[in-house]
Amino acid sequence: MSKMTKKKVHVRKGKKIKKIINQKKAVSKPRIGIHSITGCAGCQLSIYFIEDVLLDLLDKINLVAAPMIKEQNEEEGYDVLFVEGSVSSQEDLDNLLKWREKTKALVALGACACHGGMQSMKHLMNEKEVESAAYAKFPSDPRVKPITSVPLHKYVKVDFYIPGCPPDKQEIIQVLKHFLQGRRLRVYDKAVCHECSLKENYCLLDQGIECLGPLINGGCRALCPSFNHPCTGCRGLLDDANLESGKQVLKDKGFDVDLIIKRMTKYNSLQFKEFEEKTNINNKK
Ligand code: SF4
Ligand code: SF4
Ligand code: SF4
Repeated sequence: MSKMTKKKVHVRKGKKIKKIINQKKAVSKPRIGIHSITGCAGCQLSIYFIEDVLLDLLDKINLVAAPMIKEQNEEEGYDVLFVEGSVSSQEDLDNLLKWREKTKALVALGACACHGGMQSMKHLMNEKEVESAAYAKFPSDPRVKPITSVPLHKYVKVDFYIPGCPPDKQEIIQVLKHFLQGRRLRVYDKAVCHECSLKENYCLLDQGIECLGPLINGGCRALCPSFNHPCTGCRGLLDDANLESGKQVLKDKGFDVDLIIKRMTKYNSLQFKEFEEKTNINNKK
């Protein structure tokens, strides 16, 4: 395992998450909503595809809003609201602010909602050029008025994060059971490498494959490396990821700097930009 894994890590927004995790009170027949802003809808599908468990749960929850699969949807009084996608348009923002007021707990579902996802690449590009290329066809439609693409917590309080693209079904089930039964949640706070080593995988970095595992939040049971695919970072950069050390390790292995940065920013451009800004400030001190 590389030297990048040395530090112990902590989950983003740890205190807020712990507050929810330790809340043991179960909610009887919680009113649950599943809403979407800018994304690909894959996160919602991850919920609907756990049909074996979902069918069992359906008589224990009140699925009051799920516009993808229900015709009649309630607009308020949620106990738990899952939101997928990132805030990328004025309509997204208006909806998110409205939903936050209507729910007791808000769950950011997936890479887009937790870290900004691929659409946050705009942070590292000329935003106006990107917007005119993507939205020029709809100049007067206020619904697609673009704004800088950011994860949910930049605008509202998020009570729990389920990262990943798409998110892990087991984590979705755990969160549902937490609200239903007051079960304590397991919050994974180590790099992907940790689970990868426990599975005794042969390290891809050592085989000359550009894997980001040392820099990325684990909890996915090292899904990609277990199938010989490099981790591309869908669960977000660790809070204390050492990007400089990460870049150096990959450079030393012979990888092109542009490729390394493209990999690091695929899902996490905003996080990457914030890390770089912090490093620049520290270097100037
Ligand atoms: S996180 Fe991935 S699966 Fe979910 S909406 Fe974004 S792109 Fe789609
Ligand atoms: S394959 Fe990737 S995730 Fe696994 S130990 Fe090596 S660097 Fe870490
Ligand atoms: S190994 Fe990396 S890219 Fe694959 S699911 Fe885990 S965090 Fe996402």
